[in-house]
Amino acid sequence: MELFISTRGDSRGATAPEAVLRGIAPDGGLYIRREMPRIPVEELAGLDFRALAERILGEYLSGYSREEIRGCVERAYDQKFDTPEIAPVVDVGDMHVLELFHGPTAAFKDVALSALPQLMSCALQKTGAKDEILILTATSGDTGSAALTGFADVPGIRIIVFYPDRGISPIQRAQMTTMAGENLGVCAISGNFDDAQTGVKRIFAELPQEFRAANHVALSSANSINIGRLAPQIVYYYSAYLDLVKRGKLRMGEKLNFCVPTGNFGDILAGYFAKRMGLPVGKLICASNANNVLTDFLNTGIYNRKRKFLTTISPSMDILVSSNLERLLYLALDCDAEAVRVRMAALSEKGEYSMPDAAMARIRETFAAACATDEQAMDAIRRTFEAHRYLMDPHTAVAWKAAEDYRRESGDATPCVVLSTASPYKFPKSVLTALGEAVPEDAAAQLSRMEALSGTKTPAPLAHVLERAPRFRDVIAPGDMMNYVMERMVRK
Ligand SMILES: *Cc1c(COP(=O)(O)O)cnc(C)c1O
Repeated sequence: MELFISTRGDSRGATAPEAVLRGIAPDGGLYIRREMPRIPVEELAGLDFRALAERILGEYLSGYSREEIRGCVERAYDQKFDTPEIAPVVDVGDMHVLELFHGPTAAFKDVALSALPQLMSCALQKTGAKDEILILTATSGDTGSAALTGFADVPGIRIIVFYPDRGISPIQRAQMTTMAGENLGVCAISGNFDDAQTGVKRIFAELPQEFRAANHVALSSANSINIGRLAPQIVYYYSAYLDLVKRGKLRMGEKLNFCVPTGNFGDILAGYFAKRMGLPVGKLICASNANNVLTDFLNTGIYNRKRKFLTTISPSMDILVSSNLERLLYLALDCDAEAVRVRMAALSEKGEYSMPDAAMARIRETFAAACATDEQAMDAIRRTFEAHRYLMDPHTAVAWKAAEDYRRESGDATPCVVLSTASPYKFPKSVLTALGEAVPEDAAAQLSRMEALSGTKTPAPLAHVLERAPRFRDVIAPGDMMNYVMERMVRK
């Protein structure tokens, strides 16, 4: 059976169910398959999203049976999504927009976080694990509510979500703090997303094994480092491609570019996996906001996180350390785990590392990069609305602008899909400001104003969230995260 191995060289491989339960490898590396299965897109014509998910996850997540994968997919992609297509493509001007926000929290993380809890729960049964699983997640906004929704009341699993107290929208906060479910915990951190993520990583690394064993709890993660979170994202690259072929916008076998609003590098990496599986992907354009560490990295070969952390209108991309990049480094460095380890150590000790020219050349065969400021994203929102009556959220707008810049500067006229990662209704204040509208004080009034302007409807999951009373009000310092978790592991 094809084993998942750690990017840092741990010699013990894992099956997909084991890797899904662990989240991160014992040596701190990320699980990856050395050999990618080949899944030619020509064989998949006519399959709908669920059938594609069955086929792709079945091949990639070796260790699950086809029946198990089918069950997971059926439970993941059901009426929770407001369209049977799950991830529809709409044509906007001469670009195509892949809408990934039709799930229960109106953001793209729903696609993966609907599947992950099912894969985990199935893995628990398969491996006969006796421990309860505690999911710890750091979120810059959207992961939290999508994970809470996905895991709510899944047997044998509890979840605690940490989010930065500043830098997320009122709707995002309300979506998390009002969530129902006996097995859920939500806590704000007086810091930024990197503080929350560093705190979670520290707990994984330092919480004593004896303490976990004594309380019968195994830790796992729902962040995009989990291979069970990454794999479902491969599916929509295939579905978007097939959608364009079916509608006559693309010839089967022709190359297609994707422009991806990027934070932790999970979404875009799934596109790279799709390419390595055989999908005819041309370029993957990595779009960043003003926290443009990845733009600089792709341009210079130097990753440098020593810079000011900026709070932008696209908070889910406000990230200085993109965890999933480690998987790309591993592949670009010819699966040399030692070379990866050296760089990850340099990143945590010195705040930067550099890549060999040959590895960067390989990366640039597929990856291009561009970034957009808040002003440029706002301008893109206004222009697309005026020209096409299409309303984008600020994350999507960053990608739209990046795609425009890439096309103009490279002259590459390959058809291009812009991934839309959130409903504009999640960020009404920024969107209304971009349109030059006065912004009503009240968030519900903001939503009504957007409906009136655009002739579209607030997605059902967002429509009432602001009226509900918060269940969770804790705010703690980043340094107290370990204690917070330990207390909750004993108190049952
Ligand atoms: C998480 C998120 C992103 C970034 O995705 P990564 O996989 O972390 O690169 C972009 N946009 C939105 C709305 C998100 O929630």
